[in-house]
Amino acid sequence: MTPQEFQALYPQFMAWVEGVLKAHASRAQPVAAKGFARLPLYFSRQRLASARYVVVDRVPMPPLTALGLRQFAEFEHADNSGVTYLDTYFVKHNRADDEALHFHELIHVIQWSLLGPERFLGTYAAGLETFGYRNSPLEAMAFDAEASFAQATEAFDAELLVAEKLRRI
Ligand SMILES: [Zn+2]
Repeated sequence: MTPQEFQALYPQFMAWVEGVLKAHASRAQPVAAKGFARLPLYFSRQRLASARYVVVDRVPMPPLTALGLRQFAEFEHADNSGVTYLDTYFVKHNRADDEALHFHELIHVIQWSLLGPERFLGTYAAGLETFGYRNSPLEAMAFDAEASFAQATEAFDAELLVAEKLRRI
């Protein structure tokens, strides 16, 4: 995708995101309300109060092929367990109580927040195109942090970790 293509599609993409968030707003819950025991050791009280989650049967994926981005067809149609847009993430009902999945999506919430929507999407799309889903830098960061969380050796400041790693992208 060229920078020109990205610039042309960005407003349409964000309009789609806003529509999805609006459609699910009444069912979005603050993550803090879920009462997970370990998340507060990694994220600030403020972040857990402001970030929201929605439980769904299938996570909403953007209509990338309809926007002309055929190279992302596999990503669009993958039945992923979670996806994050701005400060809200969606999790599949069968993983709704999986604290590690919430942790992973919260890493994306921080990425959206620190990069801002335009840089987040530009970085995400470029990474997806170059490295594929699992190895794209923003996903690799989330999966690596999730693995550290799952191993539970020692708690860390997730916000700081993301900020430091973003500086190196
Ligand atoms: Zn992810």
